[in-house]
Amino acid sequence: MKRTIAEVVLVLALICAGFFGWQNLQKGNQAHAALTEMETASKAHEDLLKESEKKVKAAGEALAAVNEEVVPLKAKALELDAVKAAVANGPLLQDVEGLYKQQKVLSVERQLGLGALRMLTKGSSDPGVAEAFQKALQLSDWSGRKNTICAAQIGLAATGEKVKVMSECAIQPEVAAADSGHGEPPAAGGHGDAKAKEHGADKKDAHAAPHWGYEGAMGPERWGSQFPTCGNGKSQAPLNIRGPFVKGRIGVAPDYKAGPLRLLNNGHTIQVNVPAGSKLRIDGIAYDLLQFHFHRPSEEQIDGKPMEMVVHFVHKSAEGKLAVLGVLLKEGNENPGIKTLWTHAPAAEGPEVAPDEVVFNPANLLPKELQYFSYEGSLTTPPCTEGVRFFILKTQVNISREQINNFPFRRNARPVQPLNDRVITEG
Ligand SMILES: [Zn+2]
Repeated sequence: MKRTIAEVVLVLALICAGFFGWQNLQKGNQAHAALTEMETASKAHEDLLKESEKKVKAAGEALAAVNEEVVPLKAKALELDAVKAAVANGPLLQDVEGLYKQQKVLSVERQLGLGALRMLTKGSSDPGVAEAFQKALQLSDWSGRKNTICAAQIGLAATGEKVKVMSECAIQPEVAAADSGHGEPPAAGGHGDAKAKEHGADKKDAHAAPHWGYEGAMGPERWGSQFPTCGNGKSQAPLNIRGPFVKGRIGVAPDYKAGPLRLLNNGHTIQVNVPAGSKLRIDGIAYDLLQFHFHRPSEEQIDGKPMEMVVHFVHKSAEGKLAVLGVLLKEGNENPGIKTLWTHAPAAEGPEVAPDEVVFNPANLLPKELQYFSYEGSLTTPPCTEGVRFFILKTQVNISREQINNFPFRRNARPVQPLNDRVITEG
């Protein structure tokens, strides 16, 4: 009996042990699940942490990059402050102005420089700033140098003047570099092209990058790609002048004065910059003579034929309207006026020269008779701006064969343009 009881107790004990064991096993399983869960959570946390670390690292790198940019910017700002401080004294500006005045040389570049210097010393609202940039724009309009046109336009815009800045003037160093790179010689192969080749894409040299020419990839058919008006304008110049003509009653009266000779080879033509005082009256309205320059052959044609050369006298009214008086040059006797000009004209592209004590009167190049053909046209060089009134004198003036040959440009004439719905008047 004892044995039976012992057996029962043993069995019960075993059952109990089994039960507790099972219970413990259950608990263990639960603990394991909890542990796994915790492990998963911790893994997720770790991932999050890693990601956060990555983000922090990236932010740190970005900040370092910004700092790298800011440090040189700070240096630039300091430099600018230094320049400002150096030129803040009025006398420096006066010195520079005095120097330029004394030399009677105010090229486009110097006008730009004066504008910039004035802006630094007196602020953009100073009327002299706008004046300097206006003058630069007047001179650069006809030279067609994109860099100078852009500089003058951007300068004027900075003064708050209403000026349309050409889309190609966006300040992008890479674009400027690309522009400098594709410089090809213009028709007459100005010296500037050789310079451009020597120095490669030297962005600092305003003369290094001709953006247009009279031949090949830079020729008149391609001007429109960089200067849209040249391609899509409807009142472009020059024209083939042929009848029928409408009678014009506009009176033109040149009043040109002798003054110190200042001239340059701008890579596209020989240009004489005229000191203030010479005027052309058109129906009583005064237009200031700014400059005159030459084309070979003449850009205008009479009944489909060009003359050997033409001289364009470029004028501007107080309202900003441009007018060109054209004098056709035909082969004949030597022209004394041109003799003076050719003696001092630089054979290669370069800045303006002012030979000592040489005085010139542009009237020397005019015929006595002032009958004309007239039409609305444009600059005949980029940017081909329209709204230019042309008066082409019927009377031609002599130039000798030798003088024609000594003009440093073999060919610098834009082809004639479609008349469209314009009329040519004669008067
Ligand atoms: Zn011209």
